[in-house]
Amino acid sequence: MKIAFIGLGNMGAPMATNLAKAGFEVVGHSFDALPTEGVSLVETAAEAVAGADVIYTMLPDAAAVLSVFETVLPSLKAGALFIDSSTIEVDVAQSVAARAAKEGMNFLDAPVSGGIAAAEAGTLTLMVGGTSAAFETAGPVLNVVGARVIHCGESGAGQATKICNNMLLGITMAGTCEMIALADRLGLDRQKLFDVVSTASGSCWSVNTYSPMPGIGPRTPADNDYAPGFSAALMLKDLRLSQAAAQLVSVQTPMGARAEQIYAKFAETEGEGAMDFSALLLRYSRDADS
Ligand code: NAD
Repeated sequence: MKIAFIGLGNMGAPMATNLAKAGFEVVGHSFDALPTEGVSLVETAAEAVAGADVIYTMLPDAAAVLSVFETVLPSLKAGALFIDSSTIEVDVAQSVAARAAKEGMNFLDAPVSGGIAAAEAGTLTLMVGGTSAAFETAGPVLNVVGARVIHCGESGAGQATKICNNMLLGITMAGTCEMIALADRLGLDRQKLFDVVSTASGSCWSVNTYSPMPGIGPRTPADNDYAPGFSAALMLKDLRLSQAAAQLVSVQTPMGARAEQIYAKFAETEGEGAMDFSALLLRYSRDADS
């Protein structure tokens, strides 16, 4: 099986490398390609997709996905399978799927959770939307990229699941940082706070597994000066996608909307978008000091 992999950035480069290591013929193309192993690089997306059975994209946003899709469409082999693991709008994923179906192609939205370390280890979680037949065909590819591959439903269901998860993550991380700032002001010992909350009813992934407190809990980006990990800019992007999806279906998500405002202030107004999203704790601590 020949795979054209487009978008060899932080996530795409290790994913393409893992596919090549698993024995697939992988031809890659990217504007700024990070180092890969076993992937033949070509100058254009059209060259990459020539004769490919699978076109795999891992791009920053919907505009890039749409641009690549339009560019490669005329060069695709009939019946080719297009897999997009970028995080993009639910309705854009659905419209690309509909367009692909018209051209006799299959499309899966397959966004990932897990970050760069999981991309390297091949242990990502993939949330997949599309037909059961396309999901079955994609199995051998997706199972190399991720350790958990879940068929969430029809087209768009992968993106919808991803932004629901990340909306909750943004809310719980903001809540966790707020709780720690309060505990600090109340004079509590952070280790004792962790020992209680991580085993009590306040426990959650943001407390137990991804503690924003340096030196407390398992090793996290907080122990590495908040180098990402998962950047605050990407968290803001996902929170915005969740609010766009909520508007699309006329659902009120006030906590998600507040988390979006909090991350917009931190990542854009205060210019901390390149830091890990758990560095929000620094902002809460700053606010408490002012
Ligand atoms: P990145 O910016 O590191 O990589 C994107 C790559 O695509 C870059 O190499 C860029 O040059 C290339 N590119 C952009 N437009 C292109 C085009 N039109 N043609 C060819 N190449 C093009 O981004 P990333 O961190 O790898 O993230 C990719 C996607 O995965 C994003 O949608 C992001 O939201 C999602 N994601 C990222 C993480 C993470 O921790 N980094 C985790 C989960 C999901």
